[in-house]
Amino acid sequence: MYIVPESLARDLVSQEAATEAIETVFAAMAREEARNFPVVRETLGHADAVYGFKSGFDRAGKVLGLKSGGYWPGNADRGLTNHQSTNVLFDPDTGRPYALVGGNHLTAVRTAAASAVSIRHLARPDARVLGLIGAGHQSGFQLKAAAAQRRFEKVLCWNIDPDLLSTPAKAAEDIGLPFEAVDRDMLGAEADVILTITSCFEPLLMKHQVKPGTHIACMGTDTIGKQEVDPALVAAATVFTDEVAQATVLGECQHAFAAGLLAAEAITPLGRVITGAHPGRTDIDEITLFDGTGVGLQDLAVADVAVRLAVAQGATLTVDM
Ligand code: NAD
Repeated sequence: MYIVPESLARDLVSQEAATEAIETVFAAMAREEARNFPVVRETLGHADAVYGFKSGFDRAGKVLGLKSGGYWPGNADRGLTNHQSTNVLFDPDTGRPYALVGGNHLTAVRTAAASAVSIRHLARPDARVLGLIGAGHQSGFQLKAAAAQRRFEKVLCWNIDPDLLSTPAKAAEDIGLPFEAVDRDMLGAEADVILTITSCFEPLLMKHQVKPGTHIACMGTDTIGKQEVDPALVAAATVFTDEVAQATVLGECQHAFAAGLLAAEAITPLGRVITGAHPGRTDIDEITLFDGTGVGLQDLAVADVAVRLAVAQGATLTVDM
């Protein structure tokens, strides 16, 4: 069994490689060659932790496995990351485990990859201003992955806690993009692409704040009750997602869906745009919205990249099981 520790996964898997892997697996999902299994997510009643599994099988890529992990809010006080993830991959021919892969960095790049792929396929080609709502751990990854998709000229950012803005500001500086902290009215009025990546439970961006032609990637809402944008904005947009079944239950679409403003049939898997089965954006003034709920196949896709690269470079630890 190969072991790819967290530090090695971080060194090996670039954002670019993750973005390509996510585009490929979204397409496999659309062709029904890959599927996610039901998610398990439970509060532990210990350490205030939430723990769960995401799993699936990509028949096209021959990747079978699971990501296990969750959220331990007390970890920061111990010098650890609050979100903890580990991937286990199994040989689909025999069921034997063949790799254990640290999943913290991989979760960040696979999440940023999903919004980046949505920008690649849905944003206007002439998008120049990138808007970012949120400034936590994920924000820098989101910003850098998005910036690779269009010729952005600046980043406008809003966060509820201005003290956190240094994280995305540093990411913008790293790639030479001007960065400005603004209010949400200005962000919506100027941004051609908007990423939301917060842990919020109420709408932060309203329909009237967004201009025609904007592409929005809602990435923070991955749990029942969370919310980042106005349901009326979701209802007014052409909506895409990683997986429709998750979007209506725990993604950003859950609120518009529950209010009867959005039918499940009106939500298109992004993979269908990637494969050419759906045209994606059809009008320059259309608002497109990607609801990135986060699926297990994303985790497995990037874990597989990590194992392949580690094996190719002779960098893995190996143990007999
Ligand atoms: P983080 O804890 O580092 O940052 C949280 C962000 O949300 C910060 O910007 C914080 O200021 C903001 N925030 C918190 N409460 C808020 C409120 N009430 N109103 C407005 N803003 C608020 O978290 P992170 O690692 O950056 O992740 C951000 C979110 O993305 C989390 O909710 C996480 O669960 C989610 N996430 C989604 C996926 C996915 O695949 N969709 C993957 C990873 C993380």
